[in-house]
Amino acid sequence: MKTYDAIVVGAGHNGLTNAAFLAKAGLDVVCVEKNDYIGGAAVSRNLYKDWWYSNCSYVCSLLRPEIYRALELHKHGLQLTPFGGSVTFMENGDYYGSYQDTEVSYREMARFSRYDADAYKTYSADTMRQCRFIRDFLLSTAPDPTSFKPSDIKELIRIGGKFLDMGEDRMYDTIRFWTMSVAEYLDEYFETDVIKAAFSGSGIIGTALGIHSPGTAYVLLHHYMGEVDGNVGSWGFARGGMGAVSNSIAGAFQAAGGELRTEAGVDQIIVKNGKVTGVALENGDEISAPVVVSAMDVKRTFLTCMDKNDLPASFHKRVENFKIRGSSGKLNIALDGLPTFPALPEGSSLYHGDMHFIDSMERMERAYDDWKDGTWSKDPYVDMLIPTLSDPTMAPPGKHFMSCFVQYCPYQVEGRAWTSEEKDAFGKSVIDQIAKYSPDFKDLILHAEIRTPQDIEAEIGITEGNIFHGELTMDQLLFNRPIPGYAQYRGPVGGLYMCGSSTHPGGGVMAAPGANAAREILSDLKRPNTVPENFGDD
Ligand SMILES: Cc1cc2nc3c(=O)[nH]c(=O)nc-3n(C[C@H](O)[C@H](O)[C@H](O)COP(=O)(O)OP(=O)(O)OC[C@H]3O[C@@H](n4cnc5c(N)ncnc54)[C@H](O)[C@@H]3O)c2cc1C
Repeated sequence: MKTYDAIVVGAGHNGLTNAAFLAKAGLDVVCVEKNDYIGGAAVSRNLYKDWWYSNCSYVCSLLRPEIYRALELHKHGLQLTPFGGSVTFMENGDYYGSYQDTEVSYREMARFSRYDADAYKTYSADTMRQCRFIRDFLLSTAPDPTSFKPSDIKELIRIGGKFLDMGEDRMYDTIRFWTMSVAEYLDEYFETDVIKAAFSGSGIIGTALGIHSPGTAYVLLHHYMGEVDGNVGSWGFARGGMGAVSNSIAGAFQAAGGELRTEAGVDQIIVKNGKVTGVALENGDEISAPVVVSAMDVKRTFLTCMDKNDLPASFHKRVENFKIRGSSGKLNIALDGLPTFPALPEGSSLYHGDMHFIDSMERMERAYDDWKDGTWSKDPYVDMLIPTLSDPTMAPPGKHFMSCFVQYCPYQVEGRAWTSEEKDAFGKSVIDQIAKYSPDFKDLILHAEIRTPQDIEAEIGITEGNIFHGELTMDQLLFNRPIPGYAQYRGPVGGLYMCGSSTHPGGGVMAAPGANAAREILSDLKRPNTVPENFGDD
């Protein structure tokens, strides 16, 4: 039987990134994937006629440009196009629009409050300062403050230096920012309810927290710290859907000599004498390698695919306690034409951006109350986009694909599995929400894929369908992600590594966990590093 240098488990974009950098260093690598397609949550799927759905992730910003360049993803077909603007429809028939043009945006905000329009500059500068602080750590391993390793001490000094450089007031602000709620953060700048509601959405996407929960200001940052074409905070589409990201990374991996095996689900990671020796597949086959890298989430890796007896008891307990809660659903809709939103002027650029349908902070929090009660939000927060307005490759001419990301949608309904009636009712709540502002929308629906966290878990294997592979709260970030003492991508068993979104710097289509883990593995194997170091900001 052939023995590989490394097996990477899971062909999501992080597993593929990890595999690509290992293969570029000359390692003989196989990446095994349980599904008959690759991409995990960064995938384009053809589920209805000639429509391609980005059926999990739908927009791109976090993907590190250093990785894009190092893997030459443009040569493997990846094209990212920025989109801009967003709109929040109001119950009184008005709307609040946010535009790429700063003058237009200022005037729109001033229509509601000149105070808010003036405050936006400060808000933007303060938030961007936090972005620049954190962005520097995305493509590096989080230092362990309890270690005396020279590399950790050096990195701790570097972080400390950056922190001190911020100046006294901003140091206070930074600590507050990392721990406060998005509602409190926005209250410090703005007075208008709809403007706060519009901005607060980025603080709750993907979390099982509400706008008033501590830690959600950081989640907002997580959604602002990416870039498209060098514009920090911008979001874009991958032409052909988010699968184009994974496919291009797979192209780079295969070009470097890597082997990709689909329909090769891992049943067990095999450990002998405290070291991994390979994996046993669900079909009974075994693959051998002295290095196994898991791109699955931390619970699936250690609680499902490993024997408890191979792990230290305290570590196992920590994994059990890791917070990874399902809170988001998704609808992917094929449309016979473009729905109209009569509140908007004809031909408005706002059709090209995100659309939202909750206009007050009270309604945002109430949506979370439903989740706490074990049910889906009856007045849901929906982040809706029509990607085909920017990328016509995803639907036939004249037709459209609509992507609806939904907060909140629980993993279980009142503590038990979803019934098909409940799933339909969840889908209806989202469709009704949009139809309130678009009278022709319902008649244009040709097909709708309704996805609860349970469906997402069943398809991609993410525990509870949590989009980030674990909450992005302070207790689970940096040197605490995923488990204190194990934040440097190494597992508790020799030769075992982690490279999925449960590791630093967390979820989103960023590719940083996969790349950072590859750097550590290559260092352990004393191979030349193929992973870019942080290029830093301008
Ligand atoms: C509904 C939804 C919407 C999102 N929207 C966005 C967005 O718009 N923008 C954004 O940046 N991020 C978004 N995210 C988050 C982002 O997509 C994920 O954080 C990211 O894609 C996770 O990548 P990963 O490679 O770490 O893991 P995954 O994509 O989860 O990949 C893990 C892979 O492992 C495979 N696997 C699991 N178990 C096994 C096994 N036993 N054997 C073999 N293979 C196995 C899975 O099939 C999967 O391919 C969204 C996520 C979801 C679910």
